[in-house]
Amino acid sequence: MAFEGLADKLSAAFKRLKSKGKLNEADVKEAMREVRLALLEADVNYKVAKDFTNTVSERAIGSEVMESLTPAQMVIKIVNEELTALMGGSDAKIASASSPPTILMLCGLQGAGKTTHAGKLAVMLKNKGHRPLLVACDIYRPAAIKQLQVVGEKAGVPVFEMGTANPVEICKAAIRHAKDYGNDMVLIDTAGRLQIDEVLMNELKDIKNTISPHEILLVVDSMTGQEAVNVAKTFDELLNITGVILTKLDGDTRGGAALSVRAVTGKPIKFVGTGEKLQDLEVFHPDRMASRILG
Ligand code: GDP
Repeated sequence: MAFEGLADKLSAAFKRLKSKGKLNEADVKEAMREVRLALLEADVNYKVAKDFTNTVSERAIGSEVMESLTPAQMVIKIVNEELTALMGGSDAKIASASSPPTILMLCGLQGAGKTTHAGKLAVMLKNKGHRPLLVACDIYRPAAIKQLQVVGEKAGVPVFEMGTANPVEICKAAIRHAKDYGNDMVLIDTAGRLQIDEVLMNELKDIKNTISPHEILLVVDSMTGQEAVNVAKTFDELLNITGVILTKLDGDTRGGAALSVRAVTGKPIKFVGTGEKLQDLEVFHPDRMASRILG
């Protein structure tokens, strides 16, 4: 299960803290040292882990906590609040265009789960009463268009494609099509590559500059830990993304990406992928995730 190691280690650290009864500064510092190690082992970014435990220590070493009847509980409560804040605080909303269609551009490296999540989002939006249109813009892999068509069929959502035409032209035509056919949400499945390269980024920038998407959602694989965070940072610097979809949270991801993305990029995780099926998509709730990590 995801976050298992982290949850176990945090729980052990708090158990020791609870066994102490009244706490002094050294007890809190020792517990925070353990928390920091647990975060680093979960592949959380080094600076994020350090800042996090410093913040918790500062809040916990106040007289109110130390003099309370259940100081360990108070420390755990602070950890919970700060974990929630670290992941963005409240739920991030998805943008909505004042005049439809709302354009969502999905980008990410190959294999992250872009096409699957375009389909998942389409299903979620359809279930909310929207009329989404999927757009095939990965013109480089012959199988990519077919894959999106299969996803669209399963989702019961139309797929717009123009073969290997220029991706910017495909997007422009897709938006015209959406207006003509009453699709209020356009989901663009862009090309991915194994690594970030200039050609890919220039293409994504061209699409962005031409169609001004309301959302640029970066799809990253949570299993890749800090690498996912580095990818998010680079994409954000080049494209100014509006949010992240963190995939494969059903695997045994250690949790580093979920905990570091927001702090490193300043951009919220908006959705998480929890399986290969089109239903396996959840809105990301920072508070629920924090509670899950704390067990
Ligand atoms: P793309 O290259 O970014 O478009 O990635 P795909 O959508 O083709 O997904 C790559 C692989 O990851 C496929 O085998 C998907 O079934 C799988 N996948 C995508 N999202 C998830 C997820 O949330 N959980 C799991 N377990 N697998 C996923």
